[in-house]
Amino acid sequence: MEPDTATRHRCRRQLHVFLFPFMSPGHQIPMLDIATLIASRGVQTSIVTTPLNLSRLRSALHRLAHLPITVHPLHFPSAAAGLPEHCESLDSLPSTLMSHSFSRAIMMLHPQGDDLVRQHQPDAIISDQNIPWTAQIARKYGIPRLVFHGTSCFSLCVSDSVSKYKPHENVNSDYKPFLVPGLPEPVHVTKSWMPSRFFRHVGLQEFFAQFVEAERNTYGTIANTFYEIEPKYVEHYGKISGKKIWPIGPVGSVEPDSLGMAERGNRASVNVDRCLSWLDSKEPNSVIYVCFGSLCTFAESQLVEIGLGLEASNCSFLWVIREGYGNGIAIGDLGERVKARGLVIMGWAPQALILNHPAVGGFMTHCGWNSVLEAVRSGVPMITWPLFAEQFYNAAFVLTRLRIGFGIGGDTGLEWGREQEAGVRVKRSRVAAAATRLMGGSESVREIRQRVRSLSELAGAAVSEGGSSHVNVDRLIDDLLMIKERLAAGQPVNEL
Ligand code: UDP
Repeated sequence: MEPDTATRHRCRRQLHVFLFPFMSPGHQIPMLDIATLIASRGVQTSIVTTPLNLSRLRSALHRLAHLPITVHPLHFPSAAAGLPEHCESLDSLPSTLMSHSFSRAIMMLHPQGDDLVRQHQPDAIISDQNIPWTAQIARKYGIPRLVFHGTSCFSLCVSDSVSKYKPHENVNSDYKPFLVPGLPEPVHVTKSWMPSRFFRHVGLQEFFAQFVEAERNTYGTIANTFYEIEPKYVEHYGKISGKKIWPIGPVGSVEPDSLGMAERGNRASVNVDRCLSWLDSKEPNSVIYVCFGSLCTFAESQLVEIGLGLEASNCSFLWVIREGYGNGIAIGDLGERVKARGLVIMGWAPQALILNHPAVGGFMTHCGWNSVLEAVRSGVPMITWPLFAEQFYNAAFVLTRLRIGFGIGGDTGLEWGREQEAGVRVKRSRVAAAATRLMGGSESVREIRQRVRSLSELAGAAVSEGGSSHVNVDRLIDDLLMIKERLAAGQPVNEL
């Protein structure tokens, strides 16, 4: 017999889940959303992270104070790992060359994580793939560990097939497309897109190798995606991983209020009301939003080309330039020069809020998976410009499977630690042409808009009561409760 709602709720309150987000905005933001989703069903959730990262979550946590979410701070060993003080998040490193030290610091957190789990005895761990030692802790204390990768199932499947079958080993050219075997449908990629090449210079391979071992000790996968956007790849990933998978996204949909969206991930570097009134003054679908995520960085010469290209496009634009790495030095007064049609935000933009505004009709993006999903959720078509990691696979998915945008970026991305050497990859004329095309009214763009609108409706339905993602959150919690009960009854749980 099915338990009644009150019993169900009582049981859920007895479940305690620890969440370990990776210290980078593109991972921490969806992890907080996952905590919110689970806690809003009555489950005790604890977020384990460092003080600086917690400070970015503070206002969101304040708003969520009615939910059973607690936080456990970890001391981040910056100095011991050879990092400057206060570098507790990947986006706060003065150079991507330091990412190796950053990964060392992540590994050094293991004993603190172990102590916390020993003291608080949670029933399950949800942790980022970039924190592989959580799998060892889960094994040690006999509880399930669920992994969160933060990317699409499509890119997880492509990466898996490439590493399993090594189709690139027979290909001489970096730019010649080759077929990736073992996927539900034909997918072609090039060597220049392969994630491993972007991190060669900073020596992260050893760190990545630990993820593979950790996946073996993992109970299942929580994916920020929804079944309807990539059904073949959700199923295929379940098969190849041999584990359960719960697609519960787009997870950001849990904060539909404007304050939540404005403060998502960090404090905005712009006055949010000014930003919104600027957008309010524009026609529907007339503004192109340009943002390359929380980590990407360009040579100053490339920034100048982007700015001048946007200016030449004659479109209204809202352009976010990430702080750090010298970004912004050369563009100096560009913001001033283009202010009639463009708004330039130096630093952190309230992206979810911007994409959701009716004036925004296009998004030039690096194709980080959160950005892709946020665009889909808001029904905004994309100009794809992938730069590193699995962004090329996500871009291929957007262009060839979803067909909700077109590409602008070169065939190759930016190698970490060598971004400044890359110089100009995309000239202003291409930036201008792409913006003009997307914001124009051609038949092909109308079709793109229609497709992304339909996907947006599917995303909304997935997270609504009874929708696939909504149901999957319940299934996930019920599964964890069942494991807790079996363990309490002394029954073995072989999947752990
Ligand atoms: N983001 C934001 N404002 C910014 C830059 C990024 O709100 O100025 C958010 C964005 O909405 C997304 C996340 O940061 O939720 C970036 O994740 P994504 O996977 O797109 O890219 P990454 O930063 O990991 O490369």
